[in-house]
Amino acid sequence: MTEERRHEMGTGGYCVCPKCGEKTMHRDSVPCQEERCPDCGAKLLREGSHHHKLFQQKQEEKQKKESSE
Ligand SMILES: [Zn+2]
Repeated sequence: MTEERRHEMGTGGYCVCPKCGEKTMHRDSVPCQEERCPDCGAKLLREGSHHHKLFQQKQEEKQKKESSE
């Protein structure tokens, strides 16, 4: 049922820190982007969200570059 997921991320899931990779439980009332990493203080991304996917793509490109140099 991918149709439902397109509209709503649903409840549960995690917020991920783009800096250090820390994961925290997502709270329904608080968007991940308003949460801060308990470890380094960076803004968190919702795991599996559009922004998180973009971030992962960037990380992969970075790693490819770094490993080829
Ligand atoms: Zn962090």
